[in-house]
Amino acid sequence: MAKFLEFQGKEFFKKAGIPVPDGFVAKTVEEAVEAAEKIGKPVVVKAQVLAGGRGKAGGVKLASTPEEAGQAAGAILGMEIKGLLVKQVLVEEQLAIAQEFYAGLIINSAQEVRGPVLMFSPEGGMDIESVPEDKIATKNVDVIKGLMLHDTLNMVVSMGIDGPRIRPLAAVILKLYELFRKNDCRALEINPLVLTEDGKVFAADCRMEADDQALFRHPEFGIKIGREFLKEPTEFELMGWSFEASDFRGTSYVAEMASPEELLKGGYVGYHGIGGGAAMLGMDALNKVGLKVADYADTSGNPTASKVYRAVKLIMSQPGIEGYFLSGFMMANQEQWHHAHGIVKALREELPKRPGFPVVLLLCGNKEKESQEILKKGLADLDARVEIYDRERVYDAKFIGGRVKTLVEEYRKDQAAA
Ligand code: GDP
Ligand code: MN
Repeated sequence: MAKFLEFQGKEFFKKAGIPVPDGFVAKTVEEAVEAAEKIGKPVVVKAQVLAGGRGKAGGVKLASTPEEAGQAAGAILGMEIKGLLVKQVLVEEQLAIAQEFYAGLIINSAQEVRGPVLMFSPEGGMDIESVPEDKIATKNVDVIKGLMLHDTLNMVVSMGIDGPRIRPLAAVILKLYELFRKNDCRALEINPLVLTEDGKVFAADCRMEADDQALFRHPEFGIKIGREFLKEPTEFELMGWSFEASDFRGTSYVAEMASPEELLKGGYVGYHGIGGGAAMLGMDALNKVGLKVADYADTSGNPTASKVYRAVKLIMSQPGIEGYFLSGFMMANQEQWHHAHGIVKALREELPKRPGFPVVLLLCGNKEKESQEILKKGLADLDARVEIYDRERVYDAKFIGGRVKTLVEEYRKDQAAA
């Protein structure tokens, strides 16, 4: 899921006409002081990480002066919240809170809903999960008919809101829905939606998650990898993602595990798993024999042969790797012959460039017999150390790890002799 930090979400709010407090992002104490000076009023300093519950974790602090804002930033920057390092804070004008509400939308994928669900509660500020059900107004929105102002007015009134508070709240909720649709969100939440003492409504927080499958419609997001990826992607990872972006059949998850410089130190194997659990077993087997994975690549969910081919080509492009290992420690119910075809094509192109290169392939599951035949026939004439295993060895991680190690050692001897 493409997730956005609070300050990024609030930029969208601003453009959508949802009022947010004035604020600036700061990466250092000095920047935080400067931001507070520019705002010229008491501020709130807020950790910018992709996690909720920052308030409880000490990641939200009030400051009356720029000096205090600096102290707050000093305490928050470098902090870890739910395992995430805080690298930046949002310094915002403090709101004089009279009341906190909740307004949010999520996609409910359940058969009987399959669409956005709008929620509004007068009990904002806390986890919506802990708010009693009778304090939350919900509405399944028909995306064809859309949402009307009278819908949000009714929701607000149904929660006992009266007088001049009704209209500004209903207006913001309607705009929230419009933004949700425009940005192809799967979740968009304001918690708390604040009513100030002078009767204005502000979004004091924002949680926004967009649908990965719709990212192609949103180049303006500037998101390079359309799935949860908590760091700046490397060139290798961007290449891996390009297979996904251009073909959604099955998955090909690729991550770099060591830099190209590190790879050249030796001891790394080009790694290709099928399915997360199987991939973990295989990594474990390699670690136990003192080898490391150069990359993490996982092709599953019935990917096409072309997708598998591209993954193998990418894996094989890593400098210094001493082998290629297909870790199919599972009886996959996908049709494995797509894997077999993709692997054969890629290895037939790559192996002639490196005689004696170790290749261990464990592949089993649906269409296993045919897949084994494709692998064996397709790779038989190559000058490489190719070993191919089937279901007989599907749980024998120790044996398979041992074979990879033996072939790598033989290959090293060849290399040393040459
Ligand atoms: P979360 O804990 O990660 O959801 O972070 P929030 O942005 O929701 O902040 C947590 C709490 O801090 C809110 O529920 C508010 O009670 C409080 N807070 C946030 N901004 C302000 C502000 O401008 N003024 C005041 N008085 N409290 C604030
Ligand atoms: Mn919040």
